Amino acid sequence: MDLLNTLVDKGLRRELPTREEALAVLATSDDDLLDVVAAAGKVRRHWFGRRVKLNYLVNLKSGLCPEDCSYCSQRLGSTAGILKYTWLKPDEASRAAAAGLAGGAKRVCLVASGRGPTDRDVDRVSETIKAIKDQNESVEVCACLGLLSDGQAERLREAGADAYNHNLNTSEETYADITTTHTYADRVDTVRKAHAAGLSACSGLIAGMGESDEDLVDVVYSLRELDPDSVPVNFLIPVEGTPLAKEWNLTPQRCLRILAMVRFVCPDVEVRIAGGREVHLRSMQPLALNLANSIFLGDYLTTEGQAGQADLDMIADAGFEVEGAGEVTLPEHRASAGCGSHGAAGGCGSHEDGSGCGSHEDGGGVCGSVPAAPANEARTDLVAVRRRGAGTDLAPNA
Ligand code: SF4
Repeated sequence: MDLLNTLVDKGLRRELPTREEALAVLATSDDDLLDVVAAAGKVRRHWFGRRVKLNYLVNLKSGLCPEDCSYCSQRLGSTAGILKYTWLKPDEASRAAAAGLAGGAKRVCLVASGRGPTDRDVDRVSETIKAIKDQNESVEVCACLGLLSDGQAERLREAGADAYNHNLNTSEETYADITTTHTYADRVDTVRKAHAAGLSACSGLIAGMGESDEDLVDVVYSLRELDPDSVPVNFLIPVEGTPLAKEWNLTPQRCLRILAMVRFVCPDVEVRIAGGREVHLRSMQPLALNLANSIFLGDYLTTEGQAGQADLDMIADAGFEVEGAGEVTLPEHRASAGCGSHGAAGGCGSHEDGSGCGSHEDGGGVCGSVPAAPANEARTDLVAVRRRGAGTDLAPNA
């Protein structure tokens, strides 16, 4: 297919595809899907080989948020039965992080619900970063605390944070449809602040909120312009008790096309499959490793993921390898550009769990093996609220 040959050539040269080409990827047929995956896989392997970076979420503060992000189970007015707790102590967060690192993660994403941190909150997170780095010097730490005020990014950087996550989530045009308590411009401003402070910027999106193909392409082009080092792609986990609980719009095939489009537009960036991986890709998860070079290990912020060992088995079975602590994530030209941590980048996302951090919601979580489901059919059986790890007495999933 000429389109795919063109996109591979452009991806290897880091050349921006046209909007029409990006839209055409989203419009490909199921008959062409394996060709699309193979083409985007060439770009992925050119820049990242067969490595998969593992990231581990620690939800420092869960629920009780005054913001109204529609996708988020921690939002104002949410009736989702999620864990609710205030700030974990540094040693509690460090213990949770250690479980993820022992499971193979090289980055820890420290996430807290809320509009943004107070200066006291930045102090708390700084203490937590120190506690984690005292135990493991080489760990990358990404903070995801919401909108930043002047000077806070610099303080986090001084405290040892390597990266900062804040997702754009959706297109500027539709942003007000999903959140009214802050703006798209607020989010862009925080990503820029993180960048300017020398933190590796992590910013991504949530798919499946009822957006159009044009919206998806818009947000990915906006991300390319912001130039984050990592782009988490969340697939909405429609959690009962949130306004988007009925938005079951995604199929595994649609998720693969979206990831391929993101890879073509952001070829040399860490593309992470974030929340909703298990819920929406289901048995197609291994195919998605040909597109993304990064995933979250274990559970999400408010929902459970598949067992950490299942993540590791999937990576090995698909012929990929877990990226080691000593390996640099990003291609040479990015790693040497002075972004954040150890030359690498990565990050989380939103505070939701759609996926990762970045937005504070969870992408979602899931468990076990899952039968095939027709498109658009609600699969509430796939969403399990997190009941273990941070904020509980039970061991974390890692
Ligand atoms: S995404 Fe973050 S800011 Fe928005 S409601 Fe959830 S916790 Fe609050």
